[in-house]
Amino acid sequence: MQIALHSSLGGSDRNSIAPSSGEESTRRAFRSNRWKWWKASVWVKDISVFGIWQKPCETARDYQATPGFWFRNGARIIKNPGQPLVQNPDELPFMDFEFEDHFVNDGGALKPMNLRLMKKYYGAKLDMMFSQGCPYKCTFCSNDQLIELDKGNRKFRRHSVDFFLAELRYILSRYPPVYNLIIDDDAFMSLPLRLIQEFAARYKKEFSSLPFFVGGVIPASIDQQKCQVLMDAGMIKMRIGIQSGNRRIMREVFVRPLHEEKLVEGSEIAYKNRKKLAPFQYDLIVDNPWEHPNELKDTGRLVHRLKRPYTFALNSLRLLPGTTIFRMGEQAGFTKADQDIMPASYEQFMPNVLNLTLAFYNITRAPDFWVKYVLNRDFGDRTVTMKRYPRIGFLVGFVGLLKKSFHNLFRGDISLWPRPIDQWCGRLFVRRPTRASSTASSSVFAYEHALPCCNHDVAHVVPSPDRAQEHD
Ligand code: SF4
Repeated sequence: MQIALHSSLGGSDRNSIAPSSGEESTRRAFRSNRWKWWKASVWVKDISVFGIWQKPCETARDYQATPGFWFRNGARIIKNPGQPLVQNPDELPFMDFEFEDHFVNDGGALKPMNLRLMKKYYGAKLDMMFSQGCPYKCTFCSNDQLIELDKGNRKFRRHSVDFFLAELRYILSRYPPVYNLIIDDDAFMSLPLRLIQEFAARYKKEFSSLPFFVGGVIPASIDQQKCQVLMDAGMIKMRIGIQSGNRRIMREVFVRPLHEEKLVEGSEIAYKNRKKLAPFQYDLIVDNPWEHPNELKDTGRLVHRLKRPYTFALNSLRLLPGTTIFRMGEQAGFTKADQDIMPASYEQFMPNVLNLTLAFYNITRAPDFWVKYVLNRDFGDRTVTMKRYPRIGFLVGFVGLLKKSFHNLFRGDISLWPRPIDQWCGRLFVRRPTRASSTASSSVFAYEHALPCCNHDVAHVVPSPDRAQEHD
């Protein structure tokens, strides 16, 4: 058995995993990563995995002795201690994109993996991580729990540019139909300028036809110079976590700073480069049981200050068990089953007037008269008990999704399109995907240890003509 735990769940300003359903969270993790790696500490029905960027367990014949795994054995829970975090992530293997000995559940039948099935289940977007770690410890984020489990998770760990590009080269040699790369770090823009410059220059030289976007940008790290070099290298979008525009909510509930001016600065960058960039995506957290409607209005004021183009993801607050915010919610009585304050999914925000106004910005900027009306109206004392308008919510959500999907597509961003449509969109709207230029002399040799194939045969990194032809 070879298992590698490659990064952390949550992160990137997400509160993305449902707290109550282990199976659902697992499905979601697999939807984004399929069979290749767990990017996560994931809760499964009978097994839990804790670990980020940990060494693979190559010889663990007794899987119940695997470090970092917790098992349910009847009524008993076996908790294996984790192993120390890897300090140099370049010691880890590449993500496994081999087909041999890989199987996929295709409509109930277990089938050997091939390029057609890979396209069907993996799609045209490649998620990778350059670094792991975040300077914050937001109460709602899984980072909060990971840091509790091991203080080492506070430390920033990162690949070298060499390793990252070698891994990308290897993946494209095994799986050519990739049209977007998502650098899904928690805080990629917090890396030093010199490193970002080195990455950008080398990426541009070799992968210029593969547009990428940077997910998980913390507002404090927005920097004109860094954005510029990344845009020159092919960055088409950033995803920035705002969460709330209210200082009390940020300080007392989420425990993170609010950098309004940095956000405005970022929106200026997006505006100036609007012809070549897809709209920046801003994450907001709504349906916060601690939030007064007047506090959510502050978020509206901030959103109204930002320059177009933009898109907003309204995430409904989830209280993840094990996180600080869950304990805060328990004390406040928000986790009791009889509370109608948590929608079924973090993606389904409550369609009240304030949330709908925020969601409307995905279609166009809300008119001033409406903003004035909303800001002056009294909505009671809690956002989660405001009146809801599900039909209007559906309409606003649907039109907003259509608008942003097409708007982004014309700028080479296919990330909003589901499989298998993303493959067609990639073929039509993104330049030909980069063919891995690696040859047997490529720097992949330097990372022979990282090849996931069982026999570690370096010949595997040479682009496979069969797969490329099949893709054509
Ligand atoms: S900024 Fe907060 S939410 Fe985002 S990755 Fe860091 S700890 Fe998590």
